[in-house]
Amino acid sequence: MCMATNKIVLFYGFTPIADTFAVKLWQRELAARWDLRGRIIVAPSGINATLGGTVQALKRYVKATKEYPGLQDIDVKWSAGTGAEFPRLSVKVRPELVAFGAPDEIEVQPGGVIGGGQHLAPAQVNQLVKERGDDVVFFDGRNAFEAQTGRFRGAVVPAVETTHDFIKELESGKYDDLKDKAVITYCTGGVRCEILSVLMKNRGFNEVYQIEGGIVRYGEQFGSGGLWDGTLYVFDGRGSVAFGADARTLGRCTLCGGATDRYLNCADAACTHQRLACRECVPGAAFANRCAQCVEERAEWLPRHLDRAPNQPVG
Ligand SMILES: [Zn+2]
Ligand SMILES: [Zn+2]
Repeated sequence: MCMATNKIVLFYGFTPIADTFAVKLWQRELAARWDLRGRIIVAPSGINATLGGTVQALKRYVKATKEYPGLQDIDVKWSAGTGAEFPRLSVKVRPELVAFGAPDEIEVQPGGVIGGGQHLAPAQVNQLVKERGDDVVFFDGRNAFEAQTGRFRGAVVPAVETTHDFIKELESGKYDDLKDKAVITYCTGGVRCEILSVLMKNRGFNEVYQIEGGIVRYGEQFGSGGLWDGTLYVFDGRGSVAFGADARTLGRCTLCGGATDRYLNCADAACTHQRLACRECVPGAAFANRCAQCVEERAEWLPRHLDRAPNQPVG
């Protein structure tokens, strides 16, 4: 018997999609044909996907997807997989690739977003910091909880629970002192910064950059020897991913304060909050109790089935 090699692919592509429903059906057919699992989001502005499967199947899927106009140059990030990261396949049409709540503010052309921050290759990020020093500020484009286990050195981490909170944060005045600095936005694979950098420029941030391929590409190139500290949170069964064996553990257990990079779901299935907990405090795969926030928000408790992976945005 031969063991097929499993991998995970992560990619996004911005291009105008007139018939999102047809593209959804096409994508679902491709993924199902090759037994791929994971999440695909189709929006009028493009496509965003994280999929797991065998290398052969993923290669065929990627090749077919690249035939769509404007997607021929998508940057596909490959990482190791076990085949167990995703319980099922989900293909959905959404108004936005990432839910910033600003679908009318983003304009796309085949191959990309119009008016976003300048893309920097990982080496150019280091170069900019070397040349400009404190004039350069890293700005976390993820949900704040993701930054608990890893972030760029000295990064500003906005108080964002979901991507929806960014506009309110940017307009709060809290970050006005960054408007004349060189701001480098970053997120997991880069998709969120494609949008965030437009929103920032539209709100008076004068010099905005984004990292080509996001933290994933930066980590691949520099491991733990660059300006990145800690591990990378990912929206699938893997939890946190380290770039090399010597990554620092920045996360702290919610219960005992000990070092940990282990994110766990709330015991409530309707709750999307993730908290850090070490193996000694919570040996199982989820908290036994609900978090304070969801107790406050909702009276009812929907017990979680432990085989369910968190269902949240990708990239
Ligand atoms: Zn603990
Ligand atoms: Zn909760």
